Amino acid sequence: MKKITSLFIIFLLVLSLSACKGKNETANNLKDGTYVVNSEKGYNQTKALDVTVEIKDAKITKIDVKNEETESIGGLAIENLVKQIIARQSIDLDVISGATLSSNALLSSVKLALDKAGGANLLKSVSSEVEVKNLNSDVVVVGAGGAGLVAAINLKLAGKDVIVLEKGQIPGGNSAKATGGMNAAKTNYQDENEFKEEAGLLKNIEKAKENYPELSTLIATVEKQYEDYLKNPKGYFDSSDLFALDTLIGGKNINNPELVKTLAENSAKAISWLEKIGAKLTSVSSFGGGSVKRIHRPLNEENKVIPVGTYLIKVLDEKAKELGIKVFYDTKADELIVDNDRVIGVKAGNNTFNAKAVILATGGFAANEELVTKYRPDLKSVMNTNVPTITGDGILMANAIGAKLIDMDKIQVHPTVAVKNGQLITEGLRGDGAILVNKNGERFVDEVGTRDYVSKAENEQEDGIVYLIVDEKMADKSNVIKGYIKNDLTISADNYEELAKKLEINSDNFVSTMENWNKAVENKKDELFNRTSFAEKLDKAPYYAIRVAPGVHHTMGGISINSKAQVLRENDTIIKGLYAAGEVTGGVHGANRLGGNAVADFVVFGIIAAESAMNDME
Ligand code: ADP
Repeated sequence: MKKITSLFIIFLLVLSLSACKGKNETANNLKDGTYVVNSEKGYNQTKALDVTVEIKDAKITKIDVKNEETESIGGLAIENLVKQIIARQSIDLDVISGATLSSNALLSSVKLALDKAGGANLLKSVSSEVEVKNLNSDVVVVGAGGAGLVAAINLKLAGKDVIVLEKGQIPGGNSAKATGGMNAAKTNYQDENEFKEEAGLLKNIEKAKENYPELSTLIATVEKQYEDYLKNPKGYFDSSDLFALDTLIGGKNINNPELVKTLAENSAKAISWLEKIGAKLTSVSSFGGGSVKRIHRPLNEENKVIPVGTYLIKVLDEKAKELGIKVFYDTKADELIVDNDRVIGVKAGNNTFNAKAVILATGGFAANEELVTKYRPDLKSVMNTNVPTITGDGILMANAIGAKLIDMDKIQVHPTVAVKNGQLITEGLRGDGAILVNKNGERFVDEVGTRDYVSKAENEQEDGIVYLIVDEKMADKSNVIKGYIKNDLTISADNYEELAKKLEINSDNFVSTMENWNKAVENKKDELFNRTSFAEKLDKAPYYAIRVAPGVHHTMGGISINSKAQVLRENDTIIKGLYAAGEVTGGVHGANRLGGNAVADFVVFGIIAAESAMNDME
């Protein structure tokens, strides 16, 4: 084994040396010096990147980028491109998919710097194809999104050899785009909150009794737990049973109950696991479909909520690097290798990765329009929030060797996607107090209802015109909202009338909508739509509106797994050596995923897939 490991290290060294040699063959006439460019704007359209390029011995030796792209996946893209530019001494590089604006801004900044340095014939590089053949490891993880990184880290922490294959050029997948947070029940962070959510809890219990009488045992358990809590109300009220109940109701009770139970029961442990590797999700809030405050979110140094996806992926990526996990980027897995009814590896182009177990963590298929419309013809040409690599590869690979696929037509449309640029506007805004208004200046739905319910209501509004409204108080507390403002997604005004005029919606109605909403917040009673989650009044100017519409967001269906993340065949027997975690799987979310459950899913099942793969190996 030792020999194999050292051979592998030698191989990696050869690999990196050959990569440098091949890309380095450009002569140039650059003058040594330090060149600063700060004119090119990326994802943050209000502030240009500040790029300093250092040239020594006519070579690019250092690129410093001061940027505010870090709260988007642009931060990771810039880091990756800087490395590539220096390694290849070229700017003739592909933009990083999913981070086009940041990539282009960096490449054109460096080009301008090189122009200042006397021009360069650095525009074309000689590319060297690096071939990787026949690598061995304990486990191959396919996909370096949330689930893949969690699984790989868990394996490496347990001393296993692990290789990660990633089709894109940066880690993160769709997980990097998650803005909301992670649902978890019975955490210490919840206990820091006073329990004020009785109304929402009782409403959901009533709804469950009415619509899902088959869940009566679980409902009775939750009722009993709440009764007991009221006798001695210590800490915050929640339970894994209530988390499971919310998830089942959200999923219209077609979820696999075993998987839901596993998700809920392991969620608090998963928060601790994250904490151990350096990711803290300390701020707890309400979210659509949750009976209580359960979504856990990261805060920055100023105690402002920041997007969960980029935060987590950064921590996971850094941990993976620290542990020496090898991630092969630009490496698309094509096929699973099966021998004697057991999965023993993965083919990626000409390369073969042999392993004792394979974990599929390739995400969903929402960016594969052909596959989406195969299952849901009604979703043709609807906006889409996914990164381009999320095309269902793992689902198809597993299916090709007999894995069962379930709920493939259950595709979630998210109600708040910015019409301007297709960016997802987090549900957290509604949880934190935002409302939705239509062309008539009126509210039209309980804004914190489930995603399918709110999306349907939006589609019924005149001309599809819907605005999400927040105020300065909310913006003050949230870097996420500040990001939307910076990125020019908001229209703002100093009073309600002026905002209505700018939005070209009915002004009189809008003013009374706002006044009535503020009264509803004060009385904690929404006469119109029976919304039960209230935050603060929307009464601090300026006011902000974002035009939103539904967009294809998450695919609930996928590979059928059991609660050990083992992949199942049509007849529910396991496929040995194959595990799957995250959006590539079906059954956890049923017909509709609750906000905060995608992150819970990839952390919980990422950990489990790694543990199961290890157990089966021993
Ligand atoms: P999850 O939330 O389930 O972890 P993500 O969308 O975050 O899912 O991550 C899935 C990752 O898998 C993405 O980074 C994507 O680029 C990668 N991926 C998708 N298909 C392949 C493939 N065929 N080979 C390697 N990586 C893939």
